[in-house]
Amino acid sequence: MTIERRDLRPKDVEVEILYCGICHSDVHKVNNDWENTHFPIVPGHEIVGKVASRGSRSSRYQDGDLVGVGCMVDSCRSCPQCRAGHEMFCEKGVTFSFDSFERDGKTLTYGGYSTRVVVDERYVLGVPKGLDPSRAAPLLCAGITTYSPLRQWNCTLGAQVAVLGLGGLGHMAVKLAASMGAEVTVLSTSRGKEADAARMGARHFVATSEPGAFDALEGAFDLIVDTVSAPHSLDRHTTLLREFGTIVLVGLPAEATPLDVGLLVHGNKRVAGSNIGGIAETQEMLDYCGKHGIVADVEVIPASRINEAYARMQRGDVRYRFVVDASSLRASPA
Ligand code: NAP
Ligand code: ZN
Ligand code: ZN
Repeated sequence: MTIERRDLRPKDVEVEILYCGICHSDVHKVNNDWENTHFPIVPGHEIVGKVASRGSRSSRYQDGDLVGVGCMVDSCRSCPQCRAGHEMFCEKGVTFSFDSFERDGKTLTYGGYSTRVVVDERYVLGVPKGLDPSRAAPLLCAGITTYSPLRQWNCTLGAQVAVLGLGGLGHMAVKLAASMGAEVTVLSTSRGKEADAARMGARHFVATSEPGAFDALEGAFDLIVDTVSAPHSLDRHTTLLREFGTIVLVGLPAEATPLDVGLLVHGNKRVAGSNIGGIAETQEMLDYCGKHGIVADVEVIPASRINEAYARMQRGDVRYRFVVDASSLRASPA
């Protein structure tokens, strides 16, 4: 479909989109898993592109700069959460990149499966030189969503960190945690991704479907990052935590998860959640990835293959992020 982008406001940047990653949140939204989708939607919140034009008072970027747009495109900018750099918790309601309301409370946002986007420069990120744009796109959501909890729970040298689910978020969690010096274990449903996990920096790999897979791991981890997109029990994974260890949930399955409280109480174990990351922290993550040469493993696809990509993601068959080449949309607008 054809969508309109607004005329440039003084502080706006018009971005010519080069690539947009496909996050499982896009899939949840399209399937209305969270029962809050306003159709029709244009998904996409892992955008990398070039600055095509700028508003009269926009000076943060120059024409031609490589920039990113992530999960958020606006917020009130003045509430305590916005001022603290936690725009995703804006007390007036954050404006997400798609299927969300602009500040007027009625105009819906359309995301990155498109050719251009207009965003206030405050919400536009600089992509470090040297990062391949198609492989940097997934950093805008998968990168920040895993970087932020690793920082919050002090992932440092020697920390025992497990990553549950090796998809888009999971593979970024492995790369980032390994780069911070953690000893990383991947907990994946099958052995199919074992060699890839080692290449990404994981020291250990456990196929959770194998009998007895969890036996040797009881009490092993300081931190578990749970990225699984489908409903699953937390009970088994909680037993893998050390005393005072934390399982941080970033996956957002459509169904609630029952949890045996006794497993938490005995050992002061913690269950936490983490929602993307603020704009300043997203820039910090991008700069970190620029410094350490960290990018996603991607399959670049034309827009015509998005449905196929969604079907594969729902089967867990992703290696490790599908990225839409926006030039395929320019060639044949659909
Ligand atoms: P993804 O690329 O599809 O990866 C999810 C992985 O979870 C799969 O590759 C698979 O890994 C594992 N998995 C899938 N179904 C499973 C099942 N039934 N049982 C056990 N493991 C299963 O998804 P993603 O883009 O990384 O997103 C993951 C979740 O995070 C989604 O729910 C998404 O909405 C959410 N999310 C949250 C935030 C946030 O701010 N908190 C931000 C972005 C996304 P294996 O093959 O290794 O088992
Ligand atoms: Zn996402
Ligand atoms: Zn606010």
